[in-house]
Amino acid sequence: MTEGWDARKKAGLAVLAALAVAAIALLVFTMPTGPGEDSDGALIGEARRGGLTVALRDAVGDVKVIEAKAPGRPIVLIDPGHGGTDPGAPGVSGQITEKQLTLVFARELRDVLAERGRVRVAMTREDDRTLSLEQRAAIARRLGASLLVSLHMDSAPNPLARGATVYSLSDVASDREAARFAAAENAEGGALTSERDDSVRYLLSDLALRDQMEDSAALATRLVKVAGTGMLLRPEPHRFAAFHILRRSEVPGVLFEAGYISNADDEALLITPAGRKPIVEALAKAIETELSLRMAR
Ligand SMILES: [Zn+2]
Repeated sequence: MTEGWDARKKAGLAVLAALAVAAIALLVFTMPTGPGEDSDGALIGEARRGGLTVALRDAVGDVKVIEAKAPGRPIVLIDPGHGGTDPGAPGVSGQITEKQLTLVFARELRDVLAERGRVRVAMTREDDRTLSLEQRAAIARRLGASLLVSLHMDSAPNPLARGATVYSLSDVASDREAARFAAAENAEGGALTSERDDSVRYLLSDLALRDQMEDSAALATRLVKVAGTGMLLRPEPHRFAAFHILRRSEVPGVLFEAGYISNADDEALLITPAGRKPIVEALAKAIETELSLRMAR
């Protein structure tokens, strides 16, 4: 009798102990982390709500960095805009979409930079996959990229609109069109626009953000200068607006619109390797010049 009771008591205690361990584990697991413990701050908070944590890690894990000829060179991150379920703007011919052209451009730019070997180079996507702006920005931060170039093609209701535009990061848009364009690009891939972004993360790094904006504008100015001879630019080609990807990447960067695929002449130029070549060369030259000047500072 007593033996049986003891056995039951032991079993009961074991169950209680197991429950206690499970309760403690649950408590530890669900305890909120303090601001200092969470290096990714707002991003990880948002990722938890949206269930993106795993996807972010995967996206970063997939990124290949091509080494430079000399060690210790800065990393240039090329971001082919759109992709996967987000086709971007349609071409006027109906033959091509923005996401295809941005990828082609990005590969060509990567290859030129890799061959010259003055910088390390990586791409946010190397195939036709869906990536949110958050994921693209997270890749830039986690790689420790020195510079981000997000590639896009423009589209406008006016079929005569032509030429390339370089956008840099700013709190205030340069003009109404830039503001509208930024709003459209910021909606790409379901960007997360939480209030926490502006109220906590960015107020804390006000000075860093100002530096980032200055470097972004400097790169855009250089691009326009270098590109002036190699490609058709829009009137007032350097514009600025509050682009999520540029801001959240926390590295100097520009959003480069290679031309209007809503214009038949621009599209015809952009879909041929010969038409893209001078644009790619100009981009590569501006990137290398900007980084070598920054390294010399
Ligand atoms: Zn775009």
